[in-house]
Amino acid sequence: MIVVSIAPLGFLIVFLFGAIVGSFLNVCILRIPKGDSVIHPPSHCPNCKSPIAFYDNIPLFSYLFLRGRCRACHERISPRYFIVELLMASLTVALFYRFGLGPAFVTSFIFVAALIVVSFIDLDAMIIPDVISLPGIVLGLLFSIMGRYVLEDRFEIIPSPLSSLIGLLVGGGFLLAVGWIYEIFTKVEGMGGGDVKLFAMIGAFLGWQSLLGTLLFASLGGSVIGLTVMFVKGVGRRYPIPFGPFLCLGALLFLFFGNELTTFYLYSP
Ligand SMILES: [Zn+2]
Repeated sequence: MIVVSIAPLGFLIVFLFGAIVGSFLNVCILRIPKGDSVIHPPSHCPNCKSPIAFYDNIPLFSYLFLRGRCRACHERISPRYFIVELLMASLTVALFYRFGLGPAFVTSFIFVAALIVVSFIDLDAMIIPDVISLPGIVLGLLFSIMGRYVLEDRFEIIPSPLSSLIGLLVGGGFLLAVGWIYEIFTKVEGMGGGDVKLFAMIGAFLGWQSLLGTLLFASLGGSVIGLTVMFVKGVGRRYPIPFGPFLCLGALLFLFFGNELTTFYLYSP
């Protein structure tokens, strides 16, 4: 009898699916800040504007095959394209490994895709677009209602509708208050409105229980990077560092390890 394991094949298919979605996320990262359509026109080289043939637009593979250069004008293509595709593909595999195929996978897959787009746009343009965060808030709340009444999520990653609602209100409200207080004392706008809506979206997707852990991690990560930048570039000058990517990273950690983290800080002495 021959036993053929389909597990490796399953992981490969999931990886490729994640890479294809990652390729679309690249288009979103490039076009959303400019207000362009993410569907039309088809992909073209940002330098020479020549259209990219389908065989040069294969996720991950084409970048390696063309050695990171445009086929027509040989201008360097940003490694960001490759990084985003690899990141989305790897995280898709990790989600599949953690949750299998089911409601928890579907909701967290959409959530992770949104976090990646938000992070790279914030790094690039220092904005968090409403076209991601506002529908994200609605979607997070919608998934929690479906999780309660329609789907069965045995991983308990999808919060209850009440937890989702409290999460989005407290998440958004807390950062809004922090921003106001900071502005009163320093007369400088410290917390962008984009961060407020992003944190509300995270609360809607993961429930209020995720907020403390996410914020602690984001603040810690932001402080370490902020101090490093200050140290390298010189103290006293202002270097705005986007906070969005740190919030996204905190949310991502909570998504994978949240249950363990919550248990740890609720029950450890
Ligand atoms: Zn070109």
